[in-house]
Amino acid sequence: MDFDLIIIGGGIVGAAAAYRAGQMGARTLLCDRRDAGRATDAGAGILAPESSTRDGRLWYDFALEAVGYYSVLIGDLAADGVPGEELSRAYGHCAKMIVALDDVEAAALAEMERTVYARQEERRPPPAESVRRISPKEARKVYYPLLADASAVLLQPTARRVDGRLMTAVLEHGLRARAVETSEFDVSTLLLEDGRVHGVRSACGDEYTAGAVLIAGGAWSTDFGAQLDVQIPVAPQRGQIIHLQLPGQDTGAWSIVMGFSDHYQVPWPGGRVAVGATRETGSGYAAHATVSGVREVLQEALRLAPGLRHAAIDDIRVGLRPYTSDHLPLLGAVPGVSGVYLATGHGPTGLTLGPFSAKLVVEQALEQPPARDLAPFSVARFLR
Ligand SMILES: Cc1cc2nc3c(=O)[nH]c(=O)nc-3n(C[C@H](O)[C@H](O)[C@H](O)COP(=O)(O)OP(=O)(O)OC[C@H]3O[C@@H](n4cnc5c(N)ncnc54)[C@H](O)[C@@H]3O)c2cc1C
Repeated sequence: MDFDLIIIGGGIVGAAAAYRAGQMGARTLLCDRRDAGRATDAGAGILAPESSTRDGRLWYDFALEAVGYYSVLIGDLAADGVPGEELSRAYGHCAKMIVALDDVEAAALAEMERTVYARQEERRPPPAESVRRISPKEARKVYYPLLADASAVLLQPTARRVDGRLMTAVLEHGLRARAVETSEFDVSTLLLEDGRVHGVRSACGDEYTAGAVLIAGGAWSTDFGAQLDVQIPVAPQRGQIIHLQLPGQDTGAWSIVMGFSDHYQVPWPGGRVAVGATRETGSGYAAHATVSGVREVLQEALRLAPGLRHAAIDDIRVGLRPYTSDHLPLLGAVPGVSGVYLATGHGPTGLTLGPFSAKLVVEQALEQPPARDLAPFSVARFLR
């Protein structure tokens, strides 16, 4: 056997999976095709489930554990020799504000606030810094000078942001430290015999065998369903996000801003603010920006922060989120076939959940009991 584990896909999920496998001492190969539209390269990077009420309890509890795992991962990468400066450019803490601009949004914010507080109170131990209301004046003065006149603002003082591209690069650094092999190739076929997957074949015909194969191919993971005779219900959801440049502004200290139309702003040090994003369900795999997408993103950005109107447009990024209809990832073993595992379908929250999901699935694939029950995330829920 060539490897203990082969991982298909080198976005945040595949890279984190490969790193965990390397830490566990497994002989590991990471195969990545680097498709245009790789979601990780476009992700906004908001990690703040504490003040998110969009998804249900299962997502919320998992997401809290997932953001907790980031500190462990960053510590492990530092111990493996990744320079602190690289780590702090990839990941860091900042505040997050949810901003209502009119009475309708203020009513929605009040509703959201009730859920956030109820969940906050249930947590044991309670969070050190809780989510709270602040005045629109304070929001602008302390957290985001370009903010529009707001009706109501909810503040999460300690959230986190991650740059998907830099985090993947940092993980690649960790892979070298752990002697994990990486290869830029297209996995065209799984090697499948007597109901067991025992390796992969590349589009060029090269074959590699392994004890287990992990599919972390983002929106493209669905391609392996036919061969496994199991539908992998992941679809691309295009997201367009625009990076703006504000020379001379101390944006590193600003807060993430969330509005009420799926749009948000994520400031980074060095005068950079990412504004986004579209959520184009049913978009297909075309990973290009569109006129209507760019217009929507800029319109919403200016509604939240009119002060951005003179910013320079630095970059337009397009990513294909691996979307599932119930907004939960697909994790763990594939029913009816042995030797193959899924870690995909993280949709709009894969930067939050991805490294933790990857860790748990790798532990299962390498036959170590995972720290958490993965059954609720099994693809079996779609087969019933
Ligand atoms: C605009 C936007 C904003 C977002 N904002 C956030 C956010 O604020 N917070 C958050 O938590 N998440 C966010 N996300 C979601 C997050 O980015 C994704 O869920 C996550 O990056 C998915 O990672 P992945 O590794 O599963 O897939 P990807 O990053 O898409 O990587 C999949 C990789 O697999 C490779 N691959 C596929 N098939 C094969 C094959 N057969 N052979 C070889 N390689 C293959 C592809 O080429 C690709 O490189 C956002 C996404 C977008 C697009």
